[in-house]
Amino acid sequence: MYDVKSRKAEEFISDEEIRETLAYADANRENAELIDSILAKAGERKGLSHREASVLLACELPDKLEKIYALAEQIKKDYYGNRIVLFAPLYLSNYCVNSCVYCPYHLKNRHIARKKLTQEEIVREVTALQDMGHKRLAIEAGEDPVRNPIEYILESIDTIYGIRHKNGAIRRVNVNIAATTVENYRRLREAGIGTYILFQETYHRKSYEKLHPAGPKHDYAYHTEAMDRAMEGGIDDVGLGVLFGLELYRYEFAGLLMHAEHLEAVHGVGPHTISVPRVKHADDIDPSSFDNGISDDTFAKICALIRISVPYTGMIISTRESREVRERVLPLGVSQISGASKTSVGGYADPGAAEEVTSAQFDVSDQRTLDEVVNWLIKLGYIPSFCTACYREGRTGDRFMELCKNMQISNCCHPNALMTLKEYLEDYAGPETKQAGMELIERELGQIPNPKVRQTTYEYIHDIAEGKRDFRF
Ligand code: SAM
Repeated sequence: MYDVKSRKAEEFISDEEIRETLAYADANRENAELIDSILAKAGERKGLSHREASVLLACELPDKLEKIYALAEQIKKDYYGNRIVLFAPLYLSNYCVNSCVYCPYHLKNRHIARKKLTQEEIVREVTALQDMGHKRLAIEAGEDPVRNPIEYILESIDTIYGIRHKNGAIRRVNVNIAATTVENYRRLREAGIGTYILFQETYHRKSYEKLHPAGPKHDYAYHTEAMDRAMEGGIDDVGLGVLFGLELYRYEFAGLLMHAEHLEAVHGVGPHTISVPRVKHADDIDPSSFDNGISDDTFAKICALIRISVPYTGMIISTRESREVRERVLPLGVSQISGASKTSVGGYADPGAAEEVTSAQFDVSDQRTLDEVVNWLIKLGYIPSFCTACYREGRTGDRFMELCKNMQISNCCHPNALMTLKEYLEDYAGPETKQAGMELIERELGQIPNPKVRQTTYEYIHDIAEGKRDFRF
């Protein structure tokens, strides 16, 4: 039975409710009156329920689709402005005892190079990331209680935060590791992590069990209830995602929104971010062996619908997507992207190593350098942001949502984005990017609404040129 407030996976992600939702969506896919009323509600920035959003996902009426895209663009502008936050994944270890059939780290893959970074190797990786200009990382590890215990993850986080190299610093470490206990989530919070990210992979229980035939990840309920445990352990910011391609996208989309509704209903705060990965080619993985791949059009529609359904939740697009696809979905509501990513263990410090090919988790489509990504964003009219201020100022969970809901982002995130971009330009940019970025900052400074904040930002930007660092509102 469906119960949004239940703590049991099978009740807050009720299969029956999803099936009824899809039937309702099919029955109403051309119901123009209903669709207009749903769009009007979305226009009030109140978000949409999984049922309402599913009707829009089923709808193919061209004039309604146009409205969905226009609204997604408007909401993105209103709440996130033209900022795009940048981050990079850091793979710590690809030892894994699971058997996820879409992932080359599965236990039975005997020919992939297995690697676990030592603390010294982490220093080398992070130094290389700092030298590119990164300030925010997402650490990734396979699930292996013996080789990658929580103590290893905690020690690695501590190492990462402690590395100072020239003006480099990693100021926010997000964590993407397997579902764990409340106690371990508490320890992660105490280690000062940003967002805890865990992809559901699929909300379809039977498929989930088939796709994870053995290992701890096989337990659907334990995996699906992980975000509740994370929040119980005091982690305010959690990141959801499904791996598109594994199951029917309409099923996944409804499940994703039900999960967001559940977190809001139980913990009073929805997910901080939603990621939308698609299955990619990898060492012994052929994406065409999965029947549910989605086209770029469907992908864009899903991004737009996430934006209008959960306006206060950030959206992440990784380098799994090509430059072209990223360019297409950026205006539809994306708030964060990764840049210059390596999905191999040790791939930043040693990009030429033979292992790089074989220890990688999946192929990266967008292979540009960080400077190229920054330059591209600037040319498209976005502000590449390396901001980590909210989390460092304690604006997590509902406190961040308040900022977003009150649209105070333009007096806070916007200047922070400009100041962190200025740091990047001073310390890491190539000459062309630096020139374009300086011009962007000049233009954007005038857009800060509060005169006092604007004046202070002018002064801080000047101080950054003089060599000072790490200002924030
Ligand atoms: N072991 C952790 C877990 O179980 O959640 C860490 C996650 S893994 C390093 C990061 C994510 O990459 C997975 O959750 C999965 O969604 C995604 N992934 C795995 N194989 C992939 C593939 N072939 N293509 C695209 N994404 C993939």
